[in-house]
Amino acid sequence: MLPTKAYAAQNEKSPLTPFEFHRRAVGDNDILIEILYCGVCHSDIHQARGEWGNSIYPMVPGHEIVGKVAKVGSKVSKHKVGDIAGVGCFVDSCRTCPSCTSGEEQYCAGHVSFTYNGTEADQKTPTHGGYSSQIVVDESYALKVSPKLDLKAVAPLLCAGITTYSPLKHWKVGPKSRIAVLGLGGLGHMGVKFGKAFGAHVTVISTSKSKEADAKRLGADAFLLSTDSEQVQKAADSFDLILDTVSAEHDLNSVLSMIKLDGSLVLVGVPPQAPSVHPFSLIPRRRSLAGSMIGGIRETQEMLDFCAEKGIVSDVEMIAIADINKAYERMIKNDVRYRFVIDMKTL
Ligand code: NAP
Ligand code: ZN
Ligand code: ZN
Repeated sequence: MLPTKAYAAQNEKSPLTPFEFHRRAVGDNDILIEILYCGVCHSDIHQARGEWGNSIYPMVPGHEIVGKVAKVGSKVSKHKVGDIAGVGCFVDSCRTCPSCTSGEEQYCAGHVSFTYNGTEADQKTPTHGGYSSQIVVDESYALKVSPKLDLKAVAPLLCAGITTYSPLKHWKVGPKSRIAVLGLGGLGHMGVKFGKAFGAHVTVISTSKSKEADAKRLGADAFLLSTDSEQVQKAADSFDLILDTVSAEHDLNSVLSMIKLDGSLVLVGVPPQAPSVHPFSLIPRRRSLAGSMIGGIRETQEMLDFCAEKGIVSDVEMIAIADINKAYERMIKNDVRYRFVIDMKTL
């Protein structure tokens, strides 16, 4: 057993504070990763604060992990000591169901071991995430990261990156597509970068007028202020796809009004409250309402390799682990440009 330093939430109201626990010993198929950087996803806040109603405490959040391989088990073939590796939102799955065998482990019909706020394959031992000094993971669930990229800016690709890359690929976004990204935060800014990399016309739909210049700098072709009803009305029936990355309650009927005949609204944001959708927001334009969850190991590796080739990384603001609670408060106020990343040297 490996003593491990971390920060944890003790209950839904507690701030995150220093915490120690044990990682399992490195098994034959495992690698030990010394964590260098961990991104801060809004899902960390939802879960640390019990907003989804499924929280297990104490909870060590963090699923945007990049680090150095420090030890490998006797049967490991994909990674070697000294390599850079990444861990995203899950660390194991049943490996036998149709989703697992087709490389879409995130939709596993059996037990998925989420990186934190979940349980290991034994369905008992709690998992703990990346706000920690090290992690032990089966090599099949670790990603290879090119050392060419700026590693602190790669960390958010492990969740924010794949969560936006995967639906844009699934809905075949390309040069003929007119898409919009709703919410310019950690996920949203990656959605803009991927939308542009795939050749689409990209509009940012935001509540923050102050983000207009950034939206353009990130590559967006247009900016729409969602609090201005005139702008929303003018954009009626104009997008093939809207990727909704918003973390808080908002009106989906107004968002749907901007989607073209046969277009789709794809939800990736998970506000705590269930939205209400009027059937007439969908029926008269045969619109689809869909959702998408992270991405499988194969596609996450494809996304990381695509980013290494194109030089795509996240826009990050570095923080020390002691500032994690302040970072949460700033994210809730939409004050992050565009992903906080914890420098784990500060643990
Ligand atoms: P984030 O960085 O905090 O960004 C969320 C953005 O939503 C904000 O920057 C803001 O953009 C917009 N927003 C916030 N409050 C709003 C409100 N009341 N009305 C309208 N817009 C509002 O969060 P994130 O890390 O990108 O995560 C976004 C959501 O995706 C979270 O719910 C998270 O749990 C979820 N998530 C889902 C998956 C998945 O697999 N589906 C994976 C990761 C995360 P503007 O300032 O531009 O309006
Ligand atoms: Zn996440
Ligand atoms: Zn499975």
